[in-house]
Amino acid sequence: MRIVLVGPPGAGKGTQAAYLAKNLAIPHISTGDLFRANISQGTPLGQKAQEYMRAGQLVPDEVTIGMAKDRMQQPDAAHGFLLDGFPRNLAQAEALDGILKADDLKLDAVLDLEVPEDEVVKRIAGRRMCRKDSSHIFHAIYNPPKTEGVCDTCGGELYQREDDSEETVRKRLEVYHSETEPIIDYYKAQGLVVTISALGKVVEVTQRAMAALGRD
Ligand SMILES: [Zn+2]
Repeated sequence: MRIVLVGPPGAGKGTQAAYLAKNLAIPHISTGDLFRANISQGTPLGQKAQEYMRAGQLVPDEVTIGMAKDRMQQPDAAHGFLLDGFPRNLAQAEALDGILKADDLKLDAVLDLEVPEDEVVKRIAGRRMCRKDSSHIFHAIYNPPKTEGVCDTCGGELYQREDDSEETVRKRLEVYHSETEPIIDYYKAQGLVVTISALGKVVEVTQRAMAALGRD
């Protein structure tokens, strides 16, 4: 299966992508991993991306598209893949169609994780990280530490990342609405969109997604 996963920040996209890719036995291709791999291997695209990032500029679509194309042409992706974070705008979606069409391939589904905006803000703005170990993560409402501001695991100080502030989350949601949501309409016109609720436990959302993809 060739699947694109979309959803606003805070929908749990990365977590769902990992589980779904495992259940469907296809590689999980995330934009974050693409960038990290290309940069650490020093590929020409990775070097280009790094130049823009160092200058504090957005990496142009053609660089991201090139990385995704290379990755989709690896042998493990021959029978399918799950894209996470790509395409993130209409230009990338059109480029993806072109890449697939050139090999006589097409997407099977676009899985849209839906979560109410206030819930997104609650999820992200409630996150608290440990200063000593970034894998110690708590949530003010859903997973509060025993003592406010103190890590249960190591006693480190808990803090809120700047990226997780309500103001930043609202801004990220705005970007999602203006840039990424148009691709949902684009794919709806192709009859590819499957929308599921991203509320509930991780395992429940995965089951819902598998059922929606006809793979339960
Ligand atoms: Zn800790």
